[in-house]
Amino acid sequence: MQIKVLGSAAAEGWPALFCECDICKYAWKHKGKDVRRRTSYLLNDDVMIDYGPDVYGQSLQFDIDLSKIGAIFFTHSHDDHCDPVEFAWRRQGFSVVTKDLHIYANQTTLNRIQQRLMNGDWERYHIIPHLTLPGVPFQFKQYKVMPILAQHAAYPELPLNYIIQDAEGKTALIGNDTGWWCDASWEHLKAYKLDIAIIEATMGPKYFDHTRGHLGTGAAVKVRDELKRLGVIDDNTLVAVNHFSHNGLGLHKDMEAFFNPQGIQVCYDGYVLKK
Ligand SMILES: [Zn+2]
Ligand SMILES: [Zn+2]
Ligand SMILES: [Zn+2]
Repeated sequence: MQIKVLGSAAAEGWPALFCECDICKYAWKHKGKDVRRRTSYLLNDDVMIDYGPDVYGQSLQFDIDLSKIGAIFFTHSHDDHCDPVEFAWRRQGFSVVTKDLHIYANQTTLNRIQQRLMNGDWERYHIIPHLTLPGVPFQFKQYKVMPILAQHAAYPELPLNYIIQDAEGKTALIGNDTGWWCDASWEHLKAYKLDIAIIEATMGPKYFDHTRGHLGTGAAVKVRDELKRLGVIDDNTLVAVNHFSHNGLGLHKDMEAFFNPQGIQVCYDGYVLKK
């Protein structure tokens, strides 16, 4: 199983659009791993998790043949994870598209995308929508997927994290955006043994213990520790943090200095997790 990080920033990117803060100035000057696009992942070469406003640039930067993407699993409807405009070009007259694209998403996200399509007509865009609910597993090709409820977007949206198992039995968790999970989500997690666990650390060192809607760096370590206590991960699990906000003040080198000694990797754009 291979997961490529196509973006590692929170909503406003890093450096953030229009931002005058010192962290963003540093990123502009030094570039490298502190330049972060909006969070998205490529699973092997046929599934994407989230499809945000940086998708066109990401497809060029990371050499992604989008015509090979058979499915997109959406975590939630927020603008940094879902950019409906970028589906518009699948319509006849723009791009030549013959293959179906399966979209797995909660109702709020499906509604957002459908509103952007001419007459709300999925077929015209070769898109097959699937309403995806927490705790209700689904299968796409060789992938067995368990969506779990994230603690994030406001009700009635049901934001999702994903536990994804491939044909070889390798299992990965996509754990953004979320704060501390509800009991039901922890219960679902307990049934798995993860090879890869991507946790979020949006709030950085500034909001170290933050657990509502997002995690600070200290809270991310606590999530890792709880996953370990429950037997969901062990020393062989590749654990990484992702989805960072400049407002959390953690430059890449500072995040590595904090996380690496604790056995946690820090994602950056282009980072590949393989098991
Ligand atoms: Zn986000
Ligand atoms: Zn900034
Ligand atoms: Zn969000």
